[in-house]
Amino acid sequence: MNGAWGKILTVDLTQETTGVLELEEAIYKRYLGGQALGAYLMFKDGTVGSDVPASDPRNALNFLVGPVTGAAPGGRSCITTKSPYSFNCATTAGGLTGSEMKFCGWDGVHVVGKASDPVYIAVMDDNIEIRDASHLWGMDHEHTENELNKVVHAKYNYRAESMLTTGEMPPLLAAKHPADPNKGIGNKRTSRSWVIGRAGENMMWNSAIMTEGARAHGRAGSGYVMGSKNLKGITFAGTKGHPLADKQAFMDVSRAIRTKMIAQFSWRNYGTATGWSNSMNTSCYPIRNWQEGSWEDPETLATISGPFMRASAWVKKQACRGCAQKCLTTAKVNSKNPMMDGTITDMPDWEAMGVLGSNLGFMTPDSQPLTWNEASEPYPGDVWDMHESNNKLLRSTFIHDDLGIDYIDNGENLSLLMELMQRNYITAADLDGINLVWGNIDAVNEMVYKMATRDGIGDKLANGAYETAKYFAALKGKPEIMNYVMTTHRYGQPAHTVRGGCKSALSYITTVKPNCHTEGSAEGQALIDQQDAAYNSNSMVICMFVRGTYGVDAITALTQAATGWKDWTNDETMAVGSRVASLCRIINMYTQMGDPEFTPQVWDGQAAWKWFNVPFTTGPWPKGTSLRYEDALVVDKDKLYNEKLPAYWTLRGFTPNTGVPTAAQLSKLGISDVCGNEAAEMISKYGE
Ligand code: SF4
Repeated sequence: MNGAWGKILTVDLTQETTGVLELEEAIYKRYLGGQALGAYLMFKDGTVGSDVPASDPRNALNFLVGPVTGAAPGGRSCITTKSPYSFNCATTAGGLTGSEMKFCGWDGVHVVGKASDPVYIAVMDDNIEIRDASHLWGMDHEHTENELNKVVHAKYNYRAESMLTTGEMPPLLAAKHPADPNKGIGNKRTSRSWVIGRAGENMMWNSAIMTEGARAHGRAGSGYVMGSKNLKGITFAGTKGHPLADKQAFMDVSRAIRTKMIAQFSWRNYGTATGWSNSMNTSCYPIRNWQEGSWEDPETLATISGPFMRASAWVKKQACRGCAQKCLTTAKVNSKNPMMDGTITDMPDWEAMGVLGSNLGFMTPDSQPLTWNEASEPYPGDVWDMHESNNKLLRSTFIHDDLGIDYIDNGENLSLLMELMQRNYITAADLDGINLVWGNIDAVNEMVYKMATRDGIGDKLANGAYETAKYFAALKGKPEIMNYVMTTHRYGQPAHTVRGGCKSALSYITTVKPNCHTEGSAEGQALIDQQDAAYNSNSMVICMFVRGTYGVDAITALTQAATGWKDWTNDETMAVGSRVASLCRIINMYTQMGDPEFTPQVWDGQAAWKWFNVPFTTGPWPKGTSLRYEDALVVDKDKLYNEKLPAYWTLRGFTPNTGVPTAAQLSKLGISDVCGNEAAEMISKYGE
C-alpha cells in the first residue's frame, strides 16, 4: 500500500500491552484517515452507545493522520474520541507531530485502558515503550513537551539514506543544497509530542491536547480523555519517511500548491488575524459576552487587530511542515504589569482575539473604563492603553495554551461569569473573592488557574460554559441565567456570530463537530458542499486554512499521487466528507440515547438564547450595509427549525424531522454495514 502504511499502533494502558491493527486498503479508500477513520473505529470498537462515557477506559483516544500528511504542504493531525460533552470529538491541529508519527511507520495510534499511574508513550519507529511519567505530572504543556523531546530521539533519529535525489528536487533548491546520499533526512530532528497540561490532568471538560507551544487539539475535550487515562504524553521519533506511489507527480502538485500559498500575502502576514477588519465590518467581533458585535469607533477594536499585534508584540513566524502560509507567530509581552511582563506566547489567532480579547473587555483602557452605554463614543485611550490591551490578550492566550484548555469554550465561560457579575446575578463572593469584571486580566489569570486545578470555586467552573450557567441558575434559583450562556449543543460558540455577517445559524446547528466555525457558513446545498469539503480535509488531515488554496482538483491529484489510486476522482474525495456527515451525526445522537431527556429535536434545539432575542445595537451591521443572511441581526427561530432544518436534512438524505441518515443514504455511501443498525434503531425510536 502507498500513502498509508496500512497499520495502526494499538496501546492498552490497563494491560500495558501494545499491538498492531492492520487495515485493508478498501478501508482507506472509504475513510482515508483522520475524522472519517476515527468515526469508523468507534463503531468497530462498539463504543458508540451511552454505556461508554468519555472517561470509560474502553473509550479509545485515536491519534490519526491521512494519506498525504507529512509530505503535502500543511500537514496536521486529527485526534478523535468521545467527548465529555457526550458527542463525537474530532479535533485537528497544526504542527509536526502528526508527520512524525507517519515517519515512524504508523497511520495512527489507538489508545484504550487506563494506566494505574501517570505514563507517557515513546514511539521510536517499531520500538514502543510505555514509560513512567510521575515526574511530569503537575507540569504544564510546554515544559512537558520539552522534557519529552529531550529524552526520546538520539538512537533512532537517523535515516541512513537520503529521501530525495538531486533530480527530484526543485531546481533552485537542488542548486543551493544538492542531495547528499550520505546525509540522511532527519538526523538533526528531535522527537515531537502531544501532551496535556494540568487542565487535562484534572479532567477539566474543555481541556486540550497540545503540541509545539500553541498548537491545540482544542475542541470538545480530548485533553479530558487523555487525563482520564493517566496519559501525560505521547512522543515520536521516526526514520521511515513516507510511502508515496508517484513521488514526482506528488512533488509537481505540491509545488503548484506552494506557489499559490506564497501569493496569500495577507494570510502570510497576519494568519487568521487577517480577518479582524472584515469581522468589524460584519459585526463579528464578540464584545462582552456577545452583547454587541462591533463598535462605532474602529480605533476601539483596532487594539485587538493583526496589524496592531504585529507592531506591538510579534517576534517570529512559524509554520507546519511544508506550509508557505506560516500562520503562527511567536509574541512577547512587555508590560507595566509584572504578572504579564515577559510572557512568551504565540500569536493569538482570530478565535483567541475574539473570545479572549474583546469578549472579556480587553479593548477597554484601564485608565478610562467604558460603561456599555458609552460604546458609541470615540476611543478614549492612547497607544500605551492599546498596547496593554494586547498584552492582556496575549497573557490570557498563554495561560490557556500552557494549562492546555480550549480557549473558545473557556473564553465563553469567563465572559458568561463577567456578564453575570455585570447584571448582579453573582458577586466576587461567589467566585472565592475574585473580582471578575470586564478587562481585569489579574482576575482572569487567577480564575483560569483555579479552574485548571479544580481549586475552590474552580472545581464548579471546570466543566465549561454551559455547566457553569446551569450551576449558577440552580444555586441562585434564577433560570434566566441560562439566557446568557453562548453555547450550541452545550458547547461554547467560536468568534463568529450568526447575528452578523459571518455564519448562518443552520451551520452551527448541523455541523457534526458541534458548534464548529470552520465547517461551512452558508445554507442549503452550498452549506452541505462546504461541510463535506471540510470533513474531507479533516480526513485527509490537511490544513483547513489552506484547503482553499488546494482546491478539490489538487486534493484529488495529491491523493492519486500518494496512493496510486488511478481511479480516484473528485466525487470520491467529496464522498468521504458525506460519510463523515452520516457517521458522526449518528454518533452524536446515538451516544446520548441513554439520557431520558434526549430526543433529536431537543439536541438540535440547544442554541444560544441571544441568537433569537437580542439584536446588536452598535456598529455598521445594524445599519444594514450588506445583509448576507436573512436571519442576521436576530434569528427567526420558527423559520430555522420548521423550514430550513427539515429542508437541510432532506437534502442530506436524512429523515426530515429527526435528521437520521436513511437506509438508502447509508447504502449509497457504502456504510450500511458500519452504522445501519444504530440508524434504524433511532428511526424506530424517534420517527422520521
Ligand atoms: S496555515 Fe497555519 S495551521 Fe495551516 S498548515 Fe500553514 S502554518 Fe499550519
